[in-house]
Amino acid sequence: MGTIRTPREADLPETADVVVIGGGIVGVATAFWTSRAGLDTVLVEKQEGLGTQTTSASAECFRAQFTEPAMVALAKPSIEIFDNFADVIGVPGYDIHVRHRGYLFMTDDAEMLDDMQAAVARQHELGVTDSRFLEGAVVRERFPFVADDVVGATFRQNDGWLAAHELVQGFAKGSDAEFLLNTTVSDVLTDTDGVSGVETTRGTIATRAVVDAAGPFAGRVGKMVGVDLPLEPVRRQKVFVAASPEVIPQEAPFTVDLVNGAYWRPETGGALLGWVDPEEPVGEPVEIEALPADRYFPAVVLDKLTRLNPFFEEVTQGLKQTDVSTTAGQYVYTPDEQPLIGRLPEVPGLYVNCGYWAGVMLGPTAGRWTADLITGEMQPEDNPLRPTRFAEGDYEKGGSFLSGH
Ligand SMILES: Cc1cc2nc3c(=O)[nH]c(=O)nc-3n(C[C@H](O)[C@H](O)[C@H](O)COP(=O)(O)OP(=O)(O)OC[C@H]3O[C@@H](n4cnc5c(N)ncnc54)[C@H](O)[C@@H]3O)c2cc1C
Repeated sequence: MGTIRTPREADLPETADVVVIGGGIVGVATAFWTSRAGLDTVLVEKQEGLGTQTTSASAECFRAQFTEPAMVALAKPSIEIFDNFADVIGVPGYDIHVRHRGYLFMTDDAEMLDDMQAAVARQHELGVTDSRFLEGAVVRERFPFVADDVVGATFRQNDGWLAAHELVQGFAKGSDAEFLLNTTVSDVLTDTDGVSGVETTRGTIATRAVVDAAGPFAGRVGKMVGVDLPLEPVRRQKVFVAASPEVIPQEAPFTVDLVNGAYWRPETGGALLGWVDPEEPVGEPVEIEALPADRYFPAVVLDKLTRLNPFFEEVTQGLKQTDVSTTAGQYVYTPDEQPLIGRLPEVPGLYVNCGYWAGVMLGPTAGRWTADLITGEMQPEDNPLRPTRFAEGDYEKGGSFLSGH
């Protein structure tokens, strides 16, 4: 059973086999798997709790509808972990509230249909055999809330959403790791053999393996050892619209307008809404408490959603300011929009697990890969997301219209 505590200088662990920096979903899942592999694991988190930063800003959704092999290789087993979570963590009855309501990517642009059909065919090749292309009439019959203009969609029933907080806490609880809160890693220490420890605000922990899972701050950890990681944090906002279950279809899937990038899903009688704004600039890493949300964002998103989900017009008409709340977090993009996982050749013993815009759905398997790379269970050359792939020219930006949701 994992222990979660705020250490004092006097009881900071002196050594560990692995130190994980960052207690979001990615770091906690990594600590789960490294500790399950028998490695003495310490996770260091600067905040008062686990999963309080980007992870808490997420829409908590998961999907296997990817066209990049590595994304499928992370997403599909993660969904199996979600479906068997209590068994995976060894805590009978533990519930992460998985809802397989599906992901619906829809369009009213007939020119997109060939690409969408090709995406489904590619998913089938990659082993995601239960995604479907739906003609417009089928979409409208199956999901009567969509606009008459919808001409096609891709859909997978086994995609859906869950409770991210419970996911993080469950991995921590089911691990054999130690989670140190209110403690910041201020430096990664090295000697002639590579990583030798981490310096924290409460003292030093000696170790030969460090995992950088610091989310938007992962680039700062790289800089501690003079490595520039190709990471770009970009603010993303999400709106919760309070209950109006008589207007908002509560059985709907996670629904994306592929033309303008707006999305929504039902949530406790209301809805979660978002929009991947292509004009949002790359920013510096920011703690979510200090990340501003735009006051006008709900109006923009509601307008964009109303196009292909006309019931939002009625929702908007009845809305009071107190019915909406907007929060912001950061997606972290890499040059191919896929995470960085594995060791950094510049510093033996330093591993990264970062660069996520979809870390809730990918993190559970990514944590396992990281543990397997540390123990040697996975060979570096079998890891398509190794950080050296850009220098090697061995990468491809895929996904096109399916990325970012
Ligand atoms: C609006 C929005 C919607 C999203 N929707 C989804 C979705 O539906 N599905 C999905 O899969 N993903 C979604 N995401 C993305 C997802 O939330 C992130 O990819 C994921 O949470 C990243 O997890 P992480 O552990 O890498 O980062 P974080 O959760 O940010 O964790 C990193 C941790 O590192 C700690 N840290 C940093 N530096 C240090 C240091 N020096 N010392 C100690 N601790 C440190 C931080 O305090 C933080 O807790 C969404 C994101 C946003 C913003």
